[in-house]
Amino acid sequence: MAAQKRNKDWIQDYFFLIVPKPLSDELLSSWLTRMSIEHRRKLSTFLSLFVKREGNRISSIDIDFLYNEKLFNKLALKSNLTVKEILDLSLRSEEGYLFACNDCLYPPKQIRKLKDKRTHNGLMFCPKCLAEDNIPYFRKQWRYLFYNACPKHKILLTDRCWCCYNEIKFSKINHMNKLSYCSYCENDLSTTTIIHLQSNYKYGLKAIKWFEKGLHKGYFIINHKKVASLFVFESFTQLTFLLDRKENLVLDKFPMITEYKNLCKKLEHYNSKKINSIKKDFILTSMVYFLFQNFPNNFIQFAQDNKLTHRDFTHGFKETSYWYKKILNEIIPIQNRTGREISEREVIEAIKYLQNLNIQVTQEAVANIVGCHYTIHKRFVKIYKKLEF
Ligand SMILES: [Zn+2]
Ligand SMILES: [Zn+2]
Repeated sequence: MAAQKRNKDWIQDYFFLIVPKPLSDELLSSWLTRMSIEHRRKLSTFLSLFVKREGNRISSIDIDFLYNEKLFNKLALKSNLTVKEILDLSLRSEEGYLFACNDCLYPPKQIRKLKDKRTHNGLMFCPKCLAEDNIPYFRKQWRYLFYNACPKHKILLTDRCWCCYNEIKFSKINHMNKLSYCSYCENDLSTTTIIHLQSNYKYGLKAIKWFEKGLHKGYFIINHKKVASLFVFESFTQLTFLLDRKENLVLDKFPMITEYKNLCKKLEHYNSKKINSIKKDFILTSMVYFLFQNFPNNFIQFAQDNKLTHRDFTHGFKETSYWYKKILNEIIPIQNRTGREISEREVIEAIKYLQNLNIQVTQEAVANIVGCHYTIHKRFVKIYKKLEF
């Protein structure tokens, strides 16, 4: 036992023997698995030997979201890469652009969990990208919530090996195999079933490209103004929640509205296939994109058609960016539907105010000043009618 322990300690001081070059947008787990295969080891054994004794523990957690400076430093040292090059492989490098988190342990909403019983089976990927790669590898963007399809190959990402229906598990890959082979049945994942997107889904691919470009640059251009990408991605979560109104959603100009409603109907019935969930996330992403196009018209129309108030857009969300609040204040009036008591004096003063400015006194104009809805707020309507005659 003692001899074995000494032996391990000795290897822990050793540099990696073969260091594959990190590929553009590659996930840390993908690069580490490629390196462990080069060393003819399983990921956990490789990590235990070279990096940390508890390699088993590291390889079973979400290593791509893990923030561990010691580990990054060690990987950099042993691979003769810079810490920045290592950090670039981690999803943490998107912090401040895609998501914000204060020492959070688990991925925030903008990052897809490795597995979610309701929505996807495991790490998602594009089989065609794997097939085209000289060296097959897994991309960071395949973990982003807005990235449900591959814009290059116009297919949905897939969440499993369609040969044995199992998830992708790097930690289980046999050391004699390739990264792109299923760890359960050893089938080549680049040849697995492909889910093509018909031409009516084109708009969704445009949306993914828009989000991808914004993230890459760190900002979006909305209504001729630069907006930090983080703000847009934070509002993304809030907006998808409001948009997912199923059959009640009114969004007539959205190009995939029929597809969305049909899909919601399908999802009502129990369906073990998660493809429909992935497709739904794909459509919801394009809806958020739609709201930011022709800004602020589509946004305002959405609020009006679905009778959403200012409060609906902010209620229940802990972290709302200043930018999101600002655009809401600008485009969705803070209206009081029925809640606040409105006095006769308030209404009289509003009328006087308009008269002083020589503005025509109408029910709507007065309500705007009082700060309530001009037809829905019953008390206001009553006072106004009484004063009018
Ligand atoms: Zn692809
Ligand atoms: Zn398989």
